[in-house]
Amino acid sequence: MAARDMEAAVDLGETVALSAEPGFPAPCCPHGPALLFVKISQGKEEGRRFYACSACRDRKDCNFFQWENEKVSDARLAAREEFNRSSQPSLSHRQNVERYKKFVLLPLSKRKFCQECQQLLLPAEWENHSGHEVLTDITNAQLKRPSQILYPLENKKTNAQYLFADRSCQFLLDLITELGFRRVLSVGTPRLHELIQINGFEEQQFNVKSLLLDIDFRYSQFYTEEDFCHYNMFNHYFFGGEVAQEVCRKFLHEEKGEGVIMVTDPPFGGLVEALAFSFKKLIAMWREAQEEAHSSKEMPIFWIFPYFFESRILEFFPSFTMMDYQVDYDNHMLYKHGKTGRKQSPVRIFTNLSPSTIVLPIEEGYRFCSLCQRYVSSENQHCKTCNSCTSKDGRQWRHCVLCQKCVKPSWVHCNACNHCALQDHACESVQIGCFICGGADHKRSTCPHFSVTRRAYQADGKQRQMKNKKLKMSTIKKPSVKQRKMRVLKGKIKNKKE
Ligand code: SAH
Ligand code: ZN
Ligand code: ZN
Ligand code: ZN
Ligand code: ZN
Repeated sequence: MAARDMEAAVDLGETVALSAEPGFPAPCCPHGPALLFVKISQGKEEGRRFYACSACRDRKDCNFFQWENEKVSDARLAAREEFNRSSQPSLSHRQNVERYKKFVLLPLSKRKFCQECQQLLLPAEWENHSGHEVLTDITNAQLKRPSQILYPLENKKTNAQYLFADRSCQFLLDLITELGFRRVLSVGTPRLHELIQINGFEEQQFNVKSLLLDIDFRYSQFYTEEDFCHYNMFNHYFFGGEVAQEVCRKFLHEEKGEGVIMVTDPPFGGLVEALAFSFKKLIAMWREAQEEAHSSKEMPIFWIFPYFFESRILEFFPSFTMMDYQVDYDNHMLYKHGKTGRKQSPVRIFTNLSPSTIVLPIEEGYRFCSLCQRYVSSENQHCKTCNSCTSKDGRQWRHCVLCQKCVKPSWVHCNACNHCALQDHACESVQIGCFICGGADHKRSTCPHFSVTRRAYQADGKQRQMKNKKLKMSTIKKPSVKQRKMRVLKGKIKNKKE
C-alpha cells in the first residue's frame, strides 16, 4: 500500500500549527485555554488572528471562536463561563470513584453498564436507562479492561481513539520493563495504562506503575484520582485544576524522578507544535525533581506517531530517533502489521533513548544493523552510499544516484521533475501530494517548506522567548493553481539539495 494512501487516511484537516505557546490571557472554551490561529498565505500571515478550541478540530465538537483583539462584553464573558461550566461532565471524578466503590460491591447480576450513556449504572438508576442497550454481569475482569467496554471514540478530528493491538501493547510494556522503568506517564495511551494496571494487580513482583492522562473522561469511572487525570495534551490543561496537576507532579517526582518514562500516542491530526509545547511542560515538571537545578537531562519518552511526521517531530525534539517498529491497532483497518499479508502500519516509535537499547522482536522480522547500531525492519537494507538503513516505511528502498538519496521502491527518477516520483505522476502538477510545495512524498501538514514563519518560532533558544508568548497556528487555504505552480518550483530546488 502506498504511503500516500495511508497519509490520506489520516485526515490532516485545514490547520497547521506553527508554534505552541498558549497566550497567557487566552480565552477558555470547555477544553481549557484556546489556541491562537492565523491564516498563512504564501508564507505570510494573512487576515486576523483568532482563537479556537485546542482539542476539537471539528467545529461540530466545539465551536469556540474569538478574534484575537476582539472586545468581549462582560455579559458575553459571563455567559461563556456559564457555558463552560455547564459543558463539564455532570459527575465529578470524585463522584465517579465513589460510584465505582459501590459498584464493585454489587453481585454480578446487578452490575450493569449502559452502552448508550457509556456509564456504569447503580441499581437506582436502571429505570432511567430502561430503553437503552445495557450490558449486564460486568465482571471484575471487565472492569479492569475499560478500553474493551467503552467504545472507541473514533471521530477522527477530535478523539481519534485507536487502540493498540495486544501484540503492540505487550511489546511496549516488555520494552519498558526490560529497560528498567518503574513508572509510566501514559499520555493518551489508555490501553497501555490498562495493561500495566492489570499486571500490577495479577503479579506480586511486577513493580511498574502508570498514571493515565487523557481527555476521555469516561475513564474516570474506572480509575482513582491517583491513576487518572483528565488532561488536554494540546494545551497542557488539567481539567481537575491544581489538585490534579499535583498528582502528576508527585508521580513524576517519586524517587527523585528516576525510573520514569513518558509514553504518548496522540491523535495524528497535526498540531505537532501544540503537542511539543505540552510535552515540554511535562518534561519541565519532571525536571524539577532532578538534583542539579538546571540539569539538562531528558525525561525518557516514547512518542508514537506516523513516520511521515518525522521531520516535524525532530524539529522540536532534535535528540529523537525514529524506530522501525510498526505499531499496530485493533480498530484501525489501515494500521495493521504487514507480515501476515495485512497492510503495513505507518506508525512508529520516536524516542530520545539510545536506539541501540531498543530491541525489536527478531521473530517479527526485525534485525540488528551493526553499522547503524539499531534494530531495523528485515527489508530495510543498509545503503553504503547513505551509510544508513534508509527505509522509512519498512520496504526496501533503492539508492538514486541523481537524487543522492534512497527513495521508495515504487519511484523512478523523472527528468522533468528532476527527482524521483511515482511512475504515473503528473509532471509539474500538484494535484497529488503537498499543496504547499507540490512534493509527492508528504502532505501539507508535514511540509518541510512551510517554514517561513515557523523558523522564527523554533522550539529552542532565546529567539523564541523574545517573540510574543502566543501560540501561533495557521490555517492553509487551498492555493490557486498559480500559487501551486510556484510551490512546485520551490519543491524542485529543495529536492536537489537533499
Ligand atoms: N493507542 C492508544 C490510544 C491512542 S488514541 C492505546 O491503545 O492506549 C489517542 C488517545 O488520545 C485516546 O485515548 C484519546 O482519548 C486521547 N486524546 C485525544 N485527544 C486528546 C487531547 N486533546 N488530550 C488528551 N488526550 C487526548
Ligand atoms: Zn473546546
Ligand atoms: Zn542511499
Ligand atoms: Zn531519483
Ligand atoms: Zn515528473
